[in-house]
Amino acid sequence: MKIICVGRNYLKHIEELENVVPEEPVIFIKPDSALLRNNAPFFIPEFSKEVHYEVELVIKIKKIGRHIPLNFAADYIDSIALGIDFTARDKQNELKSKGLPWEKAKGFDHSAVISKFVSTPDNLSDINFRLEKNGEIVQSGNSSYMINAIPNLISHISEYFTLKIGDYIYTGTPEGVGPVQSGDRLRGFIEETLMFDFVVR
Ligand code: ZN
Repeated sequence: MKIICVGRNYLKHIEELENVVPEEPVIFIKPDSALLRNNAPFFIPEFSKEVHYEVELVIKIKKIGRHIPLNFAADYIDSIALGIDFTARDKQNELKSKGLPWEKAKGFDHSAVISKFVSTPDNLSDINFRLEKNGEIVQSGNSSYMINAIPNLISHISEYFTLKIGDYIYTGTPEGVGPVQSGDRLRGFIEETLMFDFVVR
C-alpha cells in the first residue's frame, strides 16, 4: 500500500507557515514503513530538534482506480480515520531552502500515525476533528475549510498515481501545528469519537 499526503490544503495553515496558496494540490508520498498504529508511542527521531504534529483526516481507498471522474470519486472511499503527519520541521525548512525533496522530513519511520477506521459520514464536507495535547485543544478543523475537497483530491491524485485497495490519503492539516516533546500525550477526535491516544517519547 502507499500513503499519499496532501500539503497546504487549509488557508490558515498556509498563512501560519508563510507559504503561498498553491495553484494545484501539493502531493507527496510516505513509505509504508512510516505507519504508526494501535496507539503505539512515538519516538522523536535523533536527527530533529523540532518535530511538529499535523492532525489530518485520512481516507482509505476501497477499489483500484485511475483518472477517476469527480462525480465518482466518493465511491472509492472505504472508511475514514484520523492521522498525524509528523514533520521534522527543521529538516523540512533546510531541504526546502535548498530546493530539495521533503522525504527525510516527512517520510521517516513512524511519521504517519493512523487511528482506527470508522464508517464514512454521509456529508464529506462537514467533518469536525481535533487534536488535544496534554488535554488542551491545539488543532481543530472541519473538512469544509479544505481548499481542495476530498472528492477533488481523489480525482486529482488518480491522474498521477493509480489508487489501489488499502491506500491511505492524508488530506492536509488545519492551522495550529506545533512541536512535540518527550512526555506529551496526544489524543485525536473525529466529532466526539476518540480516535487515537498515545504518548511521545
Ligand atoms: Zn501534513
